[in-house]
Amino acid sequence: MNRRLIGVLGGTFDPIHRGHAQLARDAVSALALDEVRCVPAGNPPHRSAPIAGAADRLAMAQLAFADQPGVVIDDAEIRQPGPSWTILTLERLRTALPDAALVLIVGADAFLGLPTWHRWQDLIARAHLAVANRPGSNLDVAVMPQPLRNLFEAHRTTDITELHRSAAGCIVSFTMTPCAVSATQIRSAVRQGQPIADLVATPVENYIRHHHLYI
Ligand code: ATP
Repeated sequence: MNRRLIGVLGGTFDPIHRGHAQLARDAVSALALDEVRCVPAGNPPHRSAPIAGAADRLAMAQLAFADQPGVVIDDAEIRQPGPSWTILTLERLRTALPDAALVLIVGADAFLGLPTWHRWQDLIARAHLAVANRPGSNLDVAVMPQPLRNLFEAHRTTDITELHRSAAGCIVSFTMTPCAVSATQIRSAVRQGQPIADLVATPVENYIRHHHLYI
């Protein structure tokens, strides 16, 4: 069965930057995704609270992907009260899109932190996982904690056509064009009055300036 492949790109996006856009673009081309759902976290429980409010992070995500057809901004985590657990987002999408295969897209750094996520071992039953290399954080089994390594070794495949054959359950890695940008770096650059034009899309930079974010 040739299922629709829906990528799911979650994050705090505080702010959304060129690395996120590159990640989405390269995931679409490397994995032949039909669509990417970009899901800004409302209240991410496993890390410190975002600096910008949810409405601002959502608005910046909409601006960043306005010219990228095939990327849909999903505001459900922001609208719903309570903690933003990725597993709940996947369960919601699984119900909404019963015939699609879901592909949770993460950078290698996020993948290595997976064991801190709520019900992390249930994720693979709801979606495939696609892990992108990220400058400074490549996918190396030697640095994975043992339970993550077990999951990786049990589910990894190099054949991306397998993503279409089942709705969930595979882990693939893909190489993205390296883009050494982080939201932390942008927040600090804004605080210090340094330029950010190379780090975020122009409409996002304009939004940050106009709303006096991160100063
Ligand atoms: P922060 O610096 O605040 O930790 P971040 O830049 O890592 O933020 P997130 O919103 O936490 O951004 O990231 C969401 C997802 O995007 C994660 O899976 C992360 O690994 C991935 N990601 C972020 N930046 C990059 C990048 N430059 N290259 C590849 N993946 C990235």
